[in-house]
Amino acid sequence: MKAKETLITLLAFVAIGLTSYVAYRYERRPDPHLCAICNRDVHGGMSYRLEVSGHTEYACCPRCGMHYQMQNGGAVKEAWATDLATGQKIPASEAYYDEGGDVQYCTHGESSVQRTPEGASVRGYDRCLPTLVAFKERAQAEAYQKIHGGRVLTYAEAVESARAQ
Ligand SMILES: [Zn+2]
Repeated sequence: MKAKETLITLLAFVAIGLTSYVAYRYERRPDPHLCAICNRDVHGGMSYRLEVSGHTEYACCPRCGMHYQMQNGGAVKEAWATDLATGQKIPASEAYYDEGGDVQYCTHGESSVQRTPEGASVRGYDRCLPTLVAFKERAQAEAYQKIHGGRVLTYAEAVESARAQ
């Protein structure tokens, strides 16, 4: 009986150890909650997910995500935006976007980003601005635009705009 209890205790310790090890390994990966472009926290309603060859990258907003796609060209296999209305993941290329609305999700409460992802230089503009938010339906993007301003864009138009600024 005693031996059995000892064995159960030992197994429990092994299980805890394994869990910690797995958690440790996970922690060592690039933090999925930091934007791959601007290092800001990634928030659920705005996030942009990139399936790059062999791994996943996260961006804090569609604008950062599109900058990532431009910098990494063919390495990005798939891009997923988040529908701001529902939080649902949607194919970025099929989403509609509102650009330049009056809510600045990424930069809320900050002055400006002080460094590039390389940590090298100070930039005079912010990668997250003008704000770009994604919607599954054009009607939702237009409803958002009526309240927050900006302009409604298709994916192609949003990419073109991100390329320019
Ligand atoms: Zn970002």
